[in-house]
Amino acid sequence: MDTGQRESILVVEDEKKISGIVRGYLEREGYRVTTAETGEQALRLLSEAFDLVILDLMLPDMGGEEICGRLRENSDVPVIMLTAKSGEEDRIRGLGIGADDYVVKPFSPRELVARVKALLRRAGKTKKKSFSYNRGRLRMDVELHEVMLEGSQVVLTPTEFKILLSLADNSGRVLSREQLVTIVQGYDFEGYDRTIDAHVKNLRHKIEKDSREPEFIKTVYGVGYKFIGIPDAD
Ligand code: CA
Repeated sequence: MDTGQRESILVVEDEKKISGIVRGYLEREGYRVTTAETGEQALRLLSEAFDLVILDLMLPDMGGEEICGRLRENSDVPVIMLTAKSGEEDRIRGLGIGADDYVVKPFSPRELVARVKALLRRAGKTKKKSFSYNRGRLRMDVELHEVMLEGSQVVLTPTEFKILLSLADNSGRVLSREQLVTIVQGYDFEGYDRTIDAHVKNLRHKIEKDSREPEFIKTVYGVGYKFIGIPDAD
């Protein structure tokens, strides 16, 4: 990167040959690489901040799903799952528990590097720190976790903040209840769809003048929710 700050990647893989090759390719691209061979080691290392995690699904002490699930409890770092299982079900499961992408073994290291770059690019885009809508009526500060409505602070729960940020980040696109559950909880949990409605209701109560004619969060019947605030020029 031209900022001089190299992005750091954690590679969790018990097969040394594979992690060695992956490390080589990533370091050649200028990334800082840390490796872990077990789930336990990975979880210990994950208390540090990484820009991306490459995670093998099959580790000697625990499954990649479990690590990913635990990681998602407090982090939205991009995760690429390495899997030897190419079954459709495993792929969907991999993404359902919060992995952002997956690569099936045997894979080409070049392809993996391309996926890493694409994912980091995507993650970089969402790193915008503050948002402002409807001529400053609604402002959000991502780092401070602060929302201001007409200049006054609105106190949101962490879940409400996550929902609002996710919707705003996907402005104009409908997010389904299932997607919001996954974003909020880090994994899909059947039967939790209706609690999303309850959170959105509370959120609207706090930021909308008239919930029946929302300015920011629109209900798309039978599908989910869409953010309709008009972004202000930066
Ligand atoms: Ca393995």
